[in-house]
Amino acid sequence: MAADTLGGYIGRFAPSPTGLLHAGSLVAALASWLDAKAHGGQWLVRIEDLDTPRCVPGADQAILRQLDACGLRPDGPVTWQSQRTPLYETALQQLQSHDHVFACSCSRQTIAAAAHATHATHHRANVYPGTCRHSTTHTGPIAWRLKVPPAGSDLITWTDRRLGPQQQHLATEVGDVVLWRRDQLWAYQLGVVVDDAAQGVTHVVRGEDLTDNTARQLWLQHCLGVTTPHYLHTPLVLGDNGEKLSKQNGAQALALDTPALASRALHQAAVCLGLPPAPHTTTQLAEQLAWWCQAWPWARQ
Ligand code: GLU
Repeated sequence: MAADTLGGYIGRFAPSPTGLLHAGSLVAALASWLDAKAHGGQWLVRIEDLDTPRCVPGADQAILRQLDACGLRPDGPVTWQSQRTPLYETALQQLQSHDHVFACSCSRQTIAAAAHATHATHHRANVYPGTCRHSTTHTGPIAWRLKVPPAGSDLITWTDRRLGPQQQHLATEVGDVVLWRRDQLWAYQLGVVVDDAAQGVTHVVRGEDLTDNTARQLWLQHCLGVTTPHYLHTPLVLGDNGEKLSKQNGAQALALDTPALASRALHQAAVCLGLPPAPHTTTQLAEQLAWWCQAWPWARQ
């Protein structure tokens, strides 16, 4: 169905195939699906496999099988970022031609040393100190960085649909953003912004751990002249140590081999989202999903 017959909403789930879905990533998958369906929109799946050293062979197909077992089926072809290199090249060329980016040959050590030497009290320790902004000579491999606005005019504000008003100072809290990495890989920030724009994504629903990336993505959207989607960041499932659930703190890959297992995993994800449990009379996954869809609290935003 065309986007305009669906009220124009296009949402997406964008897993990195660094492992299978666990209880935390299923929350983002379910929330993005429910939000799309509650708006009468389309839900896309995009495999974010740009960070190739971290990708696990076969994890992409395993994630797609897990989503299917949960009844979460994409409304268009699945895309793989590794197959979309020309889009990222075009975007970087556009940024280069408008002087929004600069080449940078700094290593982590030189960045830390420069930050230390300037005793930059108003800078966070890991904020890029601008070393290569005006340099034309580089030794070794280069990264491409996006220039952020100067301190004083670097405040980015936006409103999260769940968390409310947000703000971040890009110069003092983030620094110039890597778009092409020194290890010759496209960075997450470029891939996610270019693809959300190219796929016409209107609503981004993803885990709260990514909230901190949003301001720099808004700035990149501005520099590329593309539309900013609406954002909703979902609650995190916490691991044994109270931090975001991950492989490092006990996340188990979800076994979803039977409808009963899938139903249980979806119920846990729904509880995390503050949704009431689906009634016992809903025995089919599709019925449970439809029930949560009508209970979805963010349907009218
Ligand atoms: N690929 C990212 C992740 O799995 C999600 C990116 C996004 O939703 O913006 O954490």
